[in-house]
This record gives sequence, structure tokens and C-alpha cells, in this order.
Amino acid sequence: MGPASCAICRLHGDAASAAFEIARSDLWLLRHHPDPAPLAGWLLLDARRHLAGPLAFTDREAASWGRAVRHASQLVQQLTGCDRVYAIAFGEGAPHLHLHLIPRHGADPATAAWSVADHYRAVAAREHPAVAPDQLRELVARARQLVVQL
Ligand SMILES: [Zn+2]
Repeated sequence: MGPASCAICRLHGDAASAAFEIARSDLWLLRHHPDPAPLAGWLLLDARRHLAGPLAFTDREAASWGRAVRHASQLVQQLTGCDRVYAIAFGEGAPHLHLHLIPRHGADPATAAWSVADHYRAVAAREHPAVAPDQLRELVARARQLVVQL
């Protein structure tokens, strides 16, 4: 699959998806999970370049990645007050690096370790309510006000 058929590449140039975008640099793009969002503050850090994951990083991307992940994770915590931030990247839905940054609240067992995958699937299947669209818009607006260096 090349850039032309890649959902993430398309999304980076798509006006409808821009509603969820928080910040971008020449290497990375940070966005909120689109509707239906499984949790408030569930962000995604994408490579701007079409690449499957760290195996394909250039030296410049490898040097920049850790800092971008740290700043994006700090933003998740600032937005949500969560205790921890999970970072997960499978790259199966689209073979283009999109790191899931997931707020982990100690008091919410639905977000503990692999339970968060069950929660994700339940929201995707509409068996569990997604984040309300108004709350999603408010979160994205608030996130854009905070300075994030990617
Ligand atoms: Zn792509």
C-alpha cells in the first residue's frame, strides 16, 4: 500500500479531518481520535511521511520521535488529568505510523492495560457511548491553545 491508497495520508490533507488536528510539524501530526472517540483525550501522533513505523525512520525522525512522544503525552495528561499515558502502535488499520496516546485513569478499570482494547471495540461497535461531539470540539480547541512542540 502506497501513499495514494493510505487512509492516514489522505486524512492529513482532508478538510473534514482537520477538525481533530491539534498541531503539526514537518515530521509529525498530532490529532484527537475522531468521532466516535473512545475516551476524551485519546490522541494520535502520526508520522507526516508515509512509513510503517520506527523500523523505517530516518536518523532525523529517530532523533525527533522521543521528544514528540513526550510532548504529546504531556498534553494528554494536561487535558485529562490522567495518571499515566499509554502509547500503542500496531499499524494494522493503516500501515502508516499512528501512535495511540491513551489517558489511563487509575479509578477507571475500563482503561486498564488490554481492557482498553475491549473498550475501544465496544465504542467502535456503538455498544458503549463515544465521547460527546461537543466535548470533543471543546477538547480540540483547548489542546490547540496549549503549546505543543512536535
Ligand atoms: Zn500513509
